[in-house]
Amino acid sequence: MGILERIIWLTIYYANTLALFTGLAAFDRGVDAIRWPKNVVKSATANMCMLAINMSIAPVVFAVATFAEAGYDRLALPHVAPEAWDHVPAWVMLAIGILIRDFADYWNHRLLHSRVFWPIHSVHHSDPDLNNTTAFRIHFFETIMMHLSYILIASWMGLPPEITAGISLLLVLVGRYIHMTVDWGHGFLRYVIASPRFHQWHHADDPSSYNTNFANLFVGWDLLFGTYRVPGPCNERFGISGMPKHNILKLLIWPFTEWMKMCRQALQGRPPGQALAKTDR
Ligand SMILES: [Zn+2]
Ligand SMILES: [Zn+2]
Repeated sequence: MGILERIIWLTIYYANTLALFTGLAAFDRGVDAIRWPKNVVKSATANMCMLAINMSIAPVVFAVATFAEAGYDRLALPHVAPEAWDHVPAWVMLAIGILIRDFADYWNHRLLHSRVFWPIHSVHHSDPDLNNTTAFRIHFFETIMMHLSYILIASWMGLPPEITAGISLLLVLVGRYIHMTVDWGHGFLRYVIASPRFHQWHHADDPSSYNTNFANLFVGWDLLFGTYRVPGPCNERFGISGMPKHNILKLLIWPFTEWMKMCRQALQGRPPGQALAKTDR
């Protein structure tokens, strides 16, 4: 498929998903879900720009992936042979693949909230107008990191490429869903599947919600590792005070300036976190 053809298909896909999530929200909020206020339009524009940037670095991600894929054989590390899946039904492969990848996503997400990686991931948390396109607000460093881990997992498992692609597609949609501007808590399923309310608490600019609700799909990881917290509907402020809101350029250079600040602090012998107190989680 040519590059132009890919761009056209992706544009159609994203336009459709935008319609899908807006339509879903309309069930809850009526026409309000369609009439986006100015701040949400600004947020969505910045988020779609971020998506375009992430798509434009696809050749880098592809090069890293190709290198990583061959890693197991090159280093003679044990991994599951692709033939092992020959007689396994597709739904079983999908279920196993989703479970393993969601577990990896939980720990990747926790790592992104650590001191060193937070300057990268804080770009995702910077959106004060949370909406389904916030899922696209991912710094390109995070995109590379996440894809690298996915490739390492997928090539270790030896799953057929169409199953791996299916898992990615599904989890991307889940990511969009949990960022929706609706107060859906999932009732009795709240301890099973991540809801928009669950993820809104993860984005809340409130110290008691920092480092909670890391799961993308299965809430069980947070319950298991003691990071689950959903006290009720989330009416907290989103975004991070002191961070750029929707300025793409400033958001792109944000990790570099934060790391420079951290280095300066270390060189001056100051305790870490002084300059980052507002933003560090
Ligand atoms: Zn996070
Ligand atoms: Zn999020």
